[in-house]
Amino acid sequence: MLSKQILLLPGPTPVPPRIVQAMAAPAINHRGPEFKELLTEVNQGLQEVFCTKGEVIVLTCSGTGGMEAAVANFLEPGDKALIVTIGAFGGRFIKICQAFGVEAEIMAFPYGQAADPNRLAERLAEDKNKTIKAILLQHNETSTGVLNDVRALSQARGDHPALLIVDSISGLAAAELQTDAWDLDVVIAGSQKALMLPPGLAVLSINERAWRVAEKCANKRYYLDLLAARKSKDKGQTPYTPAVSLLFGLRESLKMLQEETLAGSQARHALMRDMVRAGIKALGLELLAADEVASPSVTAVKVPAGIKPKDIITPLREKYGVVVAGGQGDVKDSVFRIGHLGYVLPTDILAGLAALEMVLDELGLVRAEGVAVAAAQKVLRKTG
Ligand SMILES: *Cc1c(COP(=O)(O)O)cnc(C)c1O
Repeated sequence: MLSKQILLLPGPTPVPPRIVQAMAAPAINHRGPEFKELLTEVNQGLQEVFCTKGEVIVLTCSGTGGMEAAVANFLEPGDKALIVTIGAFGGRFIKICQAFGVEAEIMAFPYGQAADPNRLAERLAEDKNKTIKAILLQHNETSTGVLNDVRALSQARGDHPALLIVDSISGLAAAELQTDAWDLDVVIAGSQKALMLPPGLAVLSINERAWRVAEKCANKRYYLDLLAARKSKDKGQTPYTPAVSLLFGLRESLKMLQEETLAGSQARHALMRDMVRAGIKALGLELLAADEVASPSVTAVKVPAGIKPKDIITPLREKYGVVVAGGQGDVKDSVFRIGHLGYVLPTDILAGLAALEMVLDELGLVRAEGVAVAAAQKVLRKTG
């Protein structure tokens, strides 16, 4: 039987044919001149995407490895980190800190809300002895579909010396992020989100201030030692064997982003968000996040009373090949999530909404098929 999947996940995301093809290139020596050229090209492209003149380091690991690298290289056992959490990925930062003996002070906001910069400013103002060494937060919280105002959160830091470490794994290239202009010390990204690659790479941008902290940081690390990565990078290499095929793919992905432009990619993601939200609202379903803080990468939809997320997710996949994600953390059983980042276009959203309408109809929840699609089409038409 023929089948085709439409991946509407907040990672992994669909991989464009161009990138699949680029990754099929024959192996090269990762200690040779071709690799040096590849790494140099990729680093330059990444600097553009991160909007930084600072150094960018590519690691062979999933996004969580990038988060772990940030904790292990910039914080020491006994240091205090302030974790500003708005969902499950904030929770991951807490666990990583605890695993490394770093004291995690938690500033939590309810699922569905963004972090309040005023509360951050107040907390830092109280920290007279500057015991907080780093502030860790998400740019885009994938579990709730909420986008934090990273620029305002950075401003809230003021002149407090704590490093600002931002997990933008599901945000980079989907939402605006200005590493240098917003004074972000460390930014983390992952390959399988808006960079349109398979999983397996984490990328960190690190500014001079953060490097000075890493140089003095006594925490344990080996594979994820960023100083070792920087040293090798200066020779056009990586300390250990890199995922060369993924780097071929990354070079192609960066070319695609250059062609689309970063602003173009962000506008496309915003359009996907608006189409999904209009469609869901037209169906009378509730969204977890308010419009003001809605993520351009992923939308969390509350499941109607008496229904479990899998009642919707399973038939969507099995009958229609539309793959959406379940809930995570506190909203595990109460939402499903529609991913719309990476290589996702308006017709994917229209197809996904059409399939969702059919599933909801089969569950006896929606009687007016076509309303979500029509609402999304209206949004699409308006953008011309
Ligand atoms: C996907 C994601 C991660 C990392 O997940 P991995 O599965 O380790 O790649 C971290 N933070 C956010 C916000 C994410 O969306």
